[in-house]
Amino acid sequence: MRVIVAGGGYAGLATLIALRRSLPEVEIHLIDPREHHIKLTHLHQTLKRPLSDFCIPFAVLAKKYGFTHHRLALPISADNLESWEWNRTIPLPKGELAFEYLVIATGAKPHLAPGGKQVYQRDDFCRREGQEIIQNFLARTENKERHITVVGAGATGLQFLFELDDLLKSHSIDRQLRLIQRGGRILSKLPVGFHDYIAGRLKSAGIEHLPYTRYRGQHGGSIKLENTRTGESFTLPSDLTLLFPGVDPQPQLLRADRYGRVIVGHYPLPRIFTAGDCSNFDCSGLNSLTAQAAVRKGKQVAANIKRLQQGRLPYIYSYDELGYFVSLGPLDGIGWMLFKYNIITGLPAFAIKEAIEMQYDWFVDGVDLYF
Ligand SMILES: Cc1cc2nc3c(=O)[nH]c(=O)nc-3n(C[C@H](O)[C@H](O)[C@H](O)COP(=O)(O)OP(=O)(O)OC[C@H]3O[C@@H](n4cnc5c(N)ncnc54)[C@H](O)[C@@H]3O)c2cc1C
Repeated sequence: MRVIVAGGGYAGLATLIALRRSLPEVEIHLIDPREHHIKLTHLHQTLKRPLSDFCIPFAVLAKKYGFTHHRLALPISADNLESWEWNRTIPLPKGELAFEYLVIATGAKPHLAPGGKQVYQRDDFCRREGQEIIQNFLARTENKERHITVVGAGATGLQFLFELDDLLKSHSIDRQLRLIQRGGRILSKLPVGFHDYIAGRLKSAGIEHLPYTRYRGQHGGSIKLENTRTGESFTLPSDLTLLFPGVDPQPQLLRADRYGRVIVGHYPLPRIFTAGDCSNFDCSGLNSLTAQAAVRKGKQVAANIKRLQQGRLPYIYSYDELGYFVSLGPLDGIGWMLFKYNIITGLPAFAIKEAIEMQYDWFVDGVDLYF
């Protein structure tokens, strides 16, 4: 049997590792334009550490888990999916590659927002060293007042913000740091206790917080902003702008049935599955754009491919979230465990977040502690 996985992020890798473990004979192909698997949940730490600390070359993983890596992007669209299902092949530069099952796990891409010379987004940190971005900024702004803006009060924006704050403070670098967000509440999908704790941390760290503010673009050393309640436009100085306005499924949201099979029109494609940030399963299982959901969906898809191969019924995806944690710089964090109002903060939250990261590291190393 041959399985092709498109996308070697959390979901794709989880599918691939689980498949290799449960079906040792399966032939696996990974399609991904990158050279490395990137542990995105650590990306904010690249402000202090090399990107390579959080990357694993696909060549190394291919050796360990026995798969072939094709370095290209699969052109995914509803028409192509139907035609691949029909022909049971995908086109590759060297010819067609036939499959028994295809898994689409292509993740999510940042919302489109106007860039600029001093504006950096998620993908810049996937391509360049975060330390180099900060060094360039410091060199550029020597002997002047430094203004830094982080756009977006989701988990990514907050983790970058507090990591940067700690980095600059530890080097006694004077700076004006600000967080801007379109809405009024930080981590708006979580209980208000999250907002209150983080707002307190922003205040004690001397970070300016501008709610109800939309980023409109950057010109030279200033950012253009708009008050989302009054529509009033204004500008503020910003020598470095980190843009994390949220993500959208890439290249599009793929609807799936409760087993993870892609739905095109009204019907699931029997041989094409999806998992991770690009997917929405039609059931009560967790569909959030998180690594936790991505790994669980990836493992579920692998289990269902095995069951179908054995002529058994697939499982329904029913993973229920057990908790969610974000770090707020070294030794601080916030999250919930077991139920959303059981909020844990400070060092214990940071320690749990570290344990969650370790669970994934072990999984990639071959020790599965997910349940
Ligand atoms: C800074 C940061 C911090 C985060 N912190 C947390 C956290 O604390 N907890 C949490 O649960 N989540 C967190 N997340 C979110 C988490 O990283 C994502 O939910 C997770 O990466 C989704 O996994 P995925 O496999 O769906 O996509 P990804 O990990 O993004 O992988 C997608 C892969 O698909 C490949 N690809 C894209 N297009 C194609 C194509 N056309 N053909 C082939 N391959 C393609 C890409 O190259 C990539 O390798 C964080 C994200 C960021 C950026």
